[in-house]
Amino acid sequence: MPLRTAARTRARACACAVAALTATALLATGHPATAAPRADTPDPMNRAFAEAADAYGVPRDLLAAVGYGESRLDGHAGRPSQANGYGVMHLASNPANRSLEKASELTGESAARLRRDTTANILGGAAVLRDHADALGLDAAERRDVNSWYPAVARYSAAEGPAAALYADAVYTFLAEGVSATAPGGEEVLVPSRPVAPDKDAVSASDVYAASPDYPSARWVAAYSGNFVVGRKAAVDKVVIHTTQGSYAGSISWYQNPASKVSAHYTIRSSDGEVTQSVLEKDTAWHAGSTNSSSVGIEHEGYVDNPAWYTEAMYRSSAELTKHLAARYGIPKNRSHIIGHSEAPGADHTDPGPNWDWNHYMELIDGEPGSGGDGLTFPTYTTQQSGSTGPQVKAVQTLLNAQGYQAGAADGSFGPTTKGAVQAFQRARALEADGTVGPKTWTALLSAGTTPALAKGASGDAVKRLQRALTAALGTTVGADGSFGPATETAVRTYQTGRKLSVDGKVGPATWGALQSGK
Ligand SMILES: [Zn+2]
Repeated sequence: MPLRTAARTRARACACAVAALTATALLATGHPATAAPRADTPDPMNRAFAEAADAYGVPRDLLAAVGYGESRLDGHAGRPSQANGYGVMHLASNPANRSLEKASELTGESAARLRRDTTANILGGAAVLRDHADALGLDAAERRDVNSWYPAVARYSAAEGPAAALYADAVYTFLAEGVSATAPGGEEVLVPSRPVAPDKDAVSASDVYAASPDYPSARWVAAYSGNFVVGRKAAVDKVVIHTTQGSYAGSISWYQNPASKVSAHYTIRSSDGEVTQSVLEKDTAWHAGSTNSSSVGIEHEGYVDNPAWYTEAMYRSSAELTKHLAARYGIPKNRSHIIGHSEAPGADHTDPGPNWDWNHYMELIDGEPGSGGDGLTFPTYTTQQSGSTGPQVKAVQTLLNAQGYQAGAADGSFGPTTKGAVQAFQRARALEADGTVGPKTWTALLSAGTTPALAKGASGDAVKRLQRALTAALGTTVGADGSFGPATETAVRTYQTGRKLSVDGKVGPATWGALQSGK
């Protein structure tokens, strides 16, 4: 995303810097963004890799391994990563990495096409890799050997020292172990496993990796000193779970970039759960706005909209770390203290999102189960209907039962009893009684209850109901922290404007009435 001013960033700092709206748009479609190249061929991505490899003399498997490491071959329909990188090859446009502009110069493709068109994006990635190889003086014979490309791959990361080594090592691990990936759209992309012996002359990983000072099994790669604050203003009593919206090495290198103004204490790799620490626990990393001073931030490699990143290895490694932190700081292992970024007060982010399995995670840390703190708070409310299952169905059932509509056991399974209760509720609120819980019914359900006058400075459960209802009504996340601050006031004004109510940013009978009738 475009770089923010320092002032704005300090308030909302987080490495997972895709704005909530973008992530919401990705989620709202209900299926992954395909952006499939060359839809007229049955294997567009394989063809793109083959043709780009040919055109620039880059080994095809190396090219595919770089793409897999960057994006799991998901181009996200041209939407940017946290470091403003695009597409399968993560062509970047930020102060430390201008591979998008370089690719445009080398291929003659426009930046717009390189961002959105997967075939062009892969061609651009190949061109940039070849450019690094040429700068390093690789000759034709060397270019045919994947092992010679290690320093070129390290340069492709635009990172330095350990972060560059992390990046290149990951690519060579994929080459050694092989890749069997399913790209969005269903195409299979394979990289056969092979023995590798990368030429690390220029970038020696063993020399640059250090051990974490706080967590012995982690690596240490320090963030830039201007991207966190030394010391803390509050005792640590929370762990905040994030998704990077970018690759592992890319994120660690982003914390080293003076322009990013973000950092996290720990980052976890998807493929194997490797942990890198970038900020000391005694210091305040910039990852979750006002929660920074009282929390340890853990970033998880991946993108909110693609569940492929959330591997069992990652869950287990992250859970071990959280258990360690809970023991060290006496953090209660419940969903009020082990929270998602989206649940942090004032958060405008959706990570880790609905693909993150909270129940599994809480089980792994021997904590109390939960699906969103109170089970009612979500960054987005999606349509629930007959046949739906999961935590949002459970929330619908809980809300209906609380209002005296007989939805049956809150088991997370949307059957006939739940549908009947939804219809009864809809009739009572003069909504179309179709038995489907869309934005209007969600808004009415989430706001149901008492209607005290609320204004900036108010707090408590009614504020939480207001915040959840606004999230459903507006389709953008309004952090449900129970505290009526400036973000809530802005959301109220937006709602009042959209519903032609008098716009005062306060919640009186007219605004409550509109919300409770699903407007
Ligand atoms: Zn985050």
